[in-house]
Amino acid sequence: MKFKFFFLTTFLIFTTLFISCVSVQVKDNTVSTISSEIKKPKNIILLIGDGMGLSEVSTAIYYKDGNPNFERFHTIGLSKTSSASDLITDSAAGATVFSTGVKTYNGAIGVDKDTIPMPTIVEQLSKRGLSTGIVATSSIQHATPASFYAHVKSRRMYEEITEFAPNSGVNFFAGGGLKFFNKRKDGKDLLAEMKANGYKVTTDQLPQAPVEQKELILLAEDGMPKMSEGRGDFLPNATKLALEKLSKNEKGFFLIVEGSQIDWGGHDNDADYLIGELLDFDKTLGVALDFAKQNGETLIIVTADHETGGFTLASDGSDYNKIKPSFSTPGHSATMVPVFAEGPGATLFNGIYESNEIYHKMMALFDK
Ligand SMILES: [Zn+2]
Repeated sequence: MKFKFFFLTTFLIFTTLFISCVSVQVKDNTVSTISSEIKKPKNIILLIGDGMGLSEVSTAIYYKDGNPNFERFHTIGLSKTSSASDLITDSAAGATVFSTGVKTYNGAIGVDKDTIPMPTIVEQLSKRGLSTGIVATSSIQHATPASFYAHVKSRRMYEEITEFAPNSGVNFFAGGGLKFFNKRKDGKDLLAEMKANGYKVTTDQLPQAPVEQKELILLAEDGMPKMSEGRGDFLPNATKLALEKLSKNEKGFFLIVEGSQIDWGGHDNDADYLIGELLDFDKTLGVALDFAKQNGETLIIVTADHETGGFTLASDGSDYNKIKPSFSTPGHSATMVPVFAEGPGATLFNGIYESNEIYHKMMALFDK
């Protein structure tokens, strides 16, 4: 045991020394440039498990047949999730940190704490000629996906959020949210506007293969069905389709995939719901990891905006051989959330840092 400890300590010291040799230059507490010794990726896939803390991730260990894809990652960090307004973030502020790099108030979509619109990573990369994609099991107007292409002062402004879609430049949308395009209070037909802006619109089922045009795939009026209600392999398959499409761009791509309903299971304090969604997310990680392994130029980052439910894998009383999944709140919690990274640039995601650092690390890796 002592030997093991010595070995581990030595290993950690050497790792630390090695990392500081190729260290990141930090300015204003954010990553501005990175050492040329760190290999940069051409593509980044950011997978967000909404409400996914360490206990949620741990369900993949205990409730999945076979090895969780989470175990395929070699770099692990921890993210501090507080927002600018509250100790405990909501999903809007929690996603705006990833999309714009600023900590903002709860409810904010792509705007800073003074409601000033901030350029998102999707908008910036799109301008540079990279392809971008957004996949979610919520509506595409829900807080997390919306924060990557819209700028509104409140997450509840679903119709206003939708108005950003036609000119978003996003090459691939897949999720729910049809009613905000074609059953609007203002009577506008935003599907027609999407088509006029070059989008192929699909509302019946996930296509088998991507098309040349930009794509808008909306398979539910609002959120997609739960796994337990027959969603099937929408998330892994939409991710696969997105990768097939976006990887055709020589300049690279940025894809966001959200397992939106892990959070909803947490809010409902429904362990079966949560676990079903988490396992679907784990399966989706497999698709991303297999793609990246073959591609060789893709960085995968997996994290959460916050934890939901104060979820824990508690013992059932004194029976230590029985797990009783338990919740401590119907809301979110302040616990740090894990960050998993694999691929070129992954080592940047070691350590403990503020959630908005993830944006700055990604942008530094995209800067050539
Ligand atoms: Zn959330």
